[in-house]
Amino acid sequence: MKSYSFCPICAERLDHALIDGRERMFCPSCRWVHYINPLPVAVAYTVNAKSELLVIRRAHEPAFNEWALPGGFLETGEEPHEGCLRELMEETSLEGKIERLIGVYHRDVELYGSLLVVAYKVIVADDAITINHELFDAGFYPRELIPEVRIPLHRQIIVDGEKTQNPAFQQAAS
Ligand SMILES: [Zn+2]
Repeated sequence: MKSYSFCPICAERLDHALIDGRERMFCPSCRWVHYINPLPVAVAYTVNAKSELLVIRRAHEPAFNEWALPGGFLETGEEPHEGCLRELMEETSLEGKIERLIGVYHRDVELYGSLLVVAYKVIVADDAITINHELFDAGFYPRELIPEVRIPLHRQIIVDGEKTQNPAFQQAAS
C-alpha cells in the first residue's frame, strides 16, 4: 500500500512521530495526522437449497484467477450485511438472505494493507448465476467437490461457516 509523503491538506512534507502509541506520519505545518485504519470488507459464504457452497474464480487482483468466496469493500453508509448482499448480487446476480454472522477477521494484504473482514452465511433460494466482469467463473458445489480455495482467510471462513456456532473470536490462523 502506498503512503503519503506530502500533506493532502496543505502539501507540506510529512514528518513522523510517535502519536497515540504508534509511529505515524503527520504534517508539521497544519498538524494533520495520517491515521491508517483497516478497510472493511464483507464476504458471503453462500449456500443454495441443496446446501451446496458458492465459489467464484476471481478476475482481478488480489488473488487473480483464484477460487474464492464472493465479497468486496463496503460502501460508506452501508450496513455490513447490506454490503455483503450487494456484492453477491453484483458479482453473481444472486439474491441472498443473511442467515447469520460467521465471524469478523483481520488480515494484511499487500495491495490494500489492513483489512477488516466481516463474513456472513447467506442463503439463496434461486441459484441461477450470471457473473459480472469481476469473475471468470462461479458455481455451487457440494462440499467434497469444491475447487481448491487457496486464500487462507477464505479457507478459514469456509471452516467457520460449516460450524453451527459462531466462534467467540478469531485467532490469527494464517
Ligand atoms: Zn498540512
